[in-house]
Amino acid sequence: MRKDVRILLVGEPKVGKTSLIMSLVSEEFPDEVPPRAEEITIPADVTPERVPTHIVDYSEAEQSDEQLFQEISKANVICIVYAVNNKKSIERVTSHWIPLIADRTDKDSRVPLILVGNKSDLVEHSSMDTILPIMNQYSEIETCVECSAKTLKNISELFYYAQKAVLHPTGPLYCPEEKEMKAACVKALTRIFKVSDMDNDGLLSDLELNFFQRTCFNTPLAPQALEDVKNVVRRNMADGVQDNGLTLKGFHFLHTLFIQRGRHETTWTVLRRFGYDDDLELTQEYLFPPLKIPPDCTTELNHNAYLFLQSVFDKHDKDRDCALSPDELKDLFSVFPYMPWGPDVNNTVCTNEQGWITYQGYLSQWTLTTYLDVQRCLEYLGYLGYPILCEQESQAAALTVTRNKRIDLQKKQTQRNVFLCNVFGARGSGKSGFLQGFLGRNLMRQKIRHEHKSYYAISTAYVYGQEKYLLLHEVLPDTDFLSETDLSCDVVCLLYDVSNPRSFEFCARLYKNHFMDSRTPCLLVGAKADLPEVRQQYSLSPLDFCRKHKLPAPQRFTCNTAEAPSRDIYTKLTTKAMYPSSFSYLWMALSLLLMHVFASC
Ligand code: GDP
Ligand code: MG
Repeated sequence: MRKDVRILLVGEPKVGKTSLIMSLVSEEFPDEVPPRAEEITIPADVTPERVPTHIVDYSEAEQSDEQLFQEISKANVICIVYAVNNKKSIERVTSHWIPLIADRTDKDSRVPLILVGNKSDLVEHSSMDTILPIMNQYSEIETCVECSAKTLKNISELFYYAQKAVLHPTGPLYCPEEKEMKAACVKALTRIFKVSDMDNDGLLSDLELNFFQRTCFNTPLAPQALEDVKNVVRRNMADGVQDNGLTLKGFHFLHTLFIQRGRHETTWTVLRRFGYDDDLELTQEYLFPPLKIPPDCTTELNHNAYLFLQSVFDKHDKDRDCALSPDELKDLFSVFPYMPWGPDVNNTVCTNEQGWITYQGYLSQWTLTTYLDVQRCLEYLGYLGYPILCEQESQAAALTVTRNKRIDLQKKQTQRNVFLCNVFGARGSGKSGFLQGFLGRNLMRQKIRHEHKSYYAISTAYVYGQEKYLLLHEVLPDTDFLSETDLSCDVVCLLYDVSNPRSFEFCARLYKNHFMDSRTPCLLVGAKADLPEVRQQYSLSPLDFCRKHKLPAPQRFTCNTAEAPSRDIYTKLTTKAMYPSSFSYLWMALSLLLMHVFASC
């Protein structure tokens, strides 16, 4: 919402502009007024919408055209005042004032206008017959009002309308020519409907409507009021209410009605609550709430976030097969302005036989986004309506920022649930097969089309009975240069092809150049172990190399299996990532043993 409102009064001389301002301020009609009132500021707490409001007068006698133009460009709303008993002053509204203001303001961001017919105490008849055609002709006119500075009739209303025109403009919501809501407004309300339709049956039930009402207006609707609302819709359209629930069409109709009846602040309240700004875009503040991530810390979803994501999954897994079909996925992301997951995601997480992302895979992908790109995670949760549905301040409440990794290493324990493993290996050594193997895919199932290739794979592994996420990242072997991000991870996997004599050297060299002196644990993996092993062309055999550098012996791995490849290696990597030094590994085993002993006592 705006921080303040600037109202400018213009119009022919002697129509009563200055008197209107003075009457508002002193609550009585001043017999004598100066040509121009000083600018006044009404403090926020005495205005109906609780925003400071500046009221600016204009006097042809005292001000130059240049000054007038400046005031016009500064104003948020302009009241064009005429006197109801003065035909010429009405005629000048269209012949002079509206074109003059239009010339001075941007076509796309026209200031709202209010037509004010003053001195209504002097006439019997109303000027509305003359004014309504003008209103219909110019869409920038928000409203019109007849008032009297003398009898104080409609004076506070006038300034209230002006405030409202700025704070809750109809312009972005409604097209008066077409008599319907604008496309952007329909789109925003559709998203709001889908977010609020928690069971995804296309209807807002009483329960859902009440939740919606409470989130937007802080009060539930009385049962009778709820019925009344639905009856209004029922009376006006056949398919606005179904099975006692409000349809999307009915929801749109209600808002059109609000707007047409001048209650568009209702629609604005809803839109703002769901994060929209005056241009009906989700605000940056809503999508990207502040979140501080100190160096050496990682980001994870907390328990409540997983529960929320689970409910979103359940809502869209209509056939209950624990996987999202392309249509179900599309429906899930229909509250996004774009499709966030490309086809590569299917090669990043677990899928079912049809290649559809499973429940496990879905949570894994969210975990990956949170770990690698937390801003994106905040944005996505924002689209899903996390802060609204979970009644939290912002999406930041869904996240855990983990303790600094250095402290974890010092204390030899960690609370983290997600660990990153960078996978290195010469070209053709079997890295992609190793990543896909983690998703339970043997060589037969690994029909990766190149354009959909993923350099990540994420799934879970059990370490001492605890489920942890392991994120594998395939690092391209092309360049000699490795960036800081290539090197920083929780565990390193050095992969060579047991059947290729020239593949081990790559691992040995990489280890000596980058990891020998680092604290990151490393594991050597001999891939394609189903093939005959050949002697490696290197001064030391892989086993001797490991002995010399106090590394665990090379682990054999193959994905050329009948069933899913073995998960042992992934569990080992996760364990290494959790307990980098062998000391804590032992200690952990011991303490677990002790725990069991105590438990059985
Ligand atoms: P301005 O030039 O537009 O600022 O007009 P003023 O405020 O100076 O008013 C011009 C004259 O109209 C003054 O004599 C006012 O007393 C008189 N006037 C202003 N408002 C009203 C009103 O509502 N009713 C009547 N009867 N006279 C008014
Ligand atoms: Mg004046």
